[in-house]
Amino acid sequence: MSRDPDCIFCKIVAGEAAAHKVYEDEHTLVFMDIFPVADGHTLLIPKAHSSDLFDADPTALAALMQTSHRVAAALRRVVEPEGMMVFQLNGAAAGQTVFHYHMHLLPRWAAQPLALHTRKPGDPERLRELASAIAGALD
Ligand code: 5GP
Ligand code: ZN
Repeated sequence: MSRDPDCIFCKIVAGEAAAHKVYEDEHTLVFMDIFPVADGHTLLIPKAHSSDLFDADPTALAALMQTSHRVAAALRRVVEPEGMMVFQLNGAAAGQTVFHYHMHLLPRWAAQPLALHTRKPGDPERLRELASAIAGALD
C-alpha cells in the first residue's frame, strides 16, 4: 500500500499517530477531525496515500463513497443535525491543508456560521464519546 512517510494521515493508518477511530475496512479509515468545525465533524480517508482527488485510486474512492453513506447515516442518528455538508478540498488554493485525500462529513445547524476550518481543538473526551457512539450507530 502506498505511503508517504511525512503524512500525518498515513501515520494514523499505520497506528503511529493517535486518532479517535470510528470505523475501518480494507480500503477506508474513518476518524474524528481533531479540530472540529461542528460537533461530529468526521473524516474518511483511503488507507493508501494519495495527495488529492487527482492521484487517488478510483476503486478506493468508490469504496470510500460506499462507506460514507453508512457513516453519514450513523452520524446523523448520533448528533441529529439540521443538515450535513460533505466536502473534499484539492490543493492549497481550494483550502486543502492535509495532503492525503479525505472527505469531510460536517453536521450543520443553520444558526452556526459556515466555516471549513477552525484552530480550536475538540474536547478529547467528546471526540472519544462521538467516535464510539457513531461506531455503535452503524447499520
Ligand atoms: P483539509 O483542510 O485538508 O480539507 O482538512 C484537513 C482536516 O484535517 C482539517 O479539518 C483538520 O482539522 C484535520 N486534521 C489535521 N491534522 C489532524 C490530525 O492530526 N488528526 C485529525 N484527526 N485531524 C486532523
Ligand atoms: Zn498519507
